[in-house]
Amino acid sequence: MVNLTATLASLIAANHILDYLDVLDPFGHISVRNPNNNNTFFIALQMGAGVVSSLQDIGEYLILDGSGVNGTESGYAERYIHSEVLKRYPDVNAVVHSHNEDVLPYTITGSVSLEPTYHMAGFLGNHVPNFDIQSVYNGTDPQDMLVNTPRLGAALAAVLGTNTSRPTSPLYTTALQRGHGFITTGSSIEQVTEFAYYATSSARVQTRAISLLSSSGMGSQNPQYLSVDERKDSKDMNIWIRYKPWRQWVYQSERSGMYRNGLGSPPV
Ligand SMILES: [Zn+2]
Repeated sequence: MVNLTATLASLIAANHILDYLDVLDPFGHISVRNPNNNNTFFIALQMGAGVVSSLQDIGEYLILDGSGVNGTESGYAERYIHSEVLKRYPDVNAVVHSHNEDVLPYTITGSVSLEPTYHMAGFLGNHVPNFDIQSVYNGTDPQDMLVNTPRLGAALAAVLGTNTSRPTSPLYTTALQRGHGFITTGSSIEQVTEFAYYATSSARVQTRAISLLSSSGMGSQNPQYLSVDERKDSKDMNIWIRYKPWRQWVYQSERSGMYRNGLGSPPV
């Protein structure tokens, strides 16, 4: 059995890190699959990531339908993003959903795709799909953009695609959501925290590069993004190096004085 307290201490720490790094606004979230029970996952209850601080702030839900278990009664309206991604891809153990403003422009411009601009963003791969919730609304859905039912969560999870050489994994790590934000996925809390941060970082770099070309009179030219091989090999590097940023971000967020982790420091 895995030490659940350590997992949940890491989940609380990841909430703090993602707030500290401005990856999440008060409505974003991170989840982790229960390491001791493949059928449930943990995610904070209805609160901003920066104020998650104790076991009482975390809910446990069935991956099957997003319903609460072991005393959990309510929670994030959008927890179905997490239940449906975890259901469809057994290799995914952690999911981040963010409304980050550096990524948002890429969800609404249509013609400008989000690309890996430097080696820390190789995990973005060859394509970052853009989920348009408008395409899956039925006649009675409120059109508030929220992925707040299992059906909408399943439609979002599907755009990640299936990796045909490993069907338990998604083809793409990350997907945009038009007019809403993005999701990214990983095999661990540490990995998905790294992916979420570098998705926002690479978006900032891409916007600046496009702006630089435009202000230099070369607006018709694309920045030079990573090649196909560079994306693949950088992704492998991004995965094995995940504990290095994690350790620093734990250190920084703990010493910022802004957060409280009632379960103590996570493993680094
Ligand atoms: Zn959202």
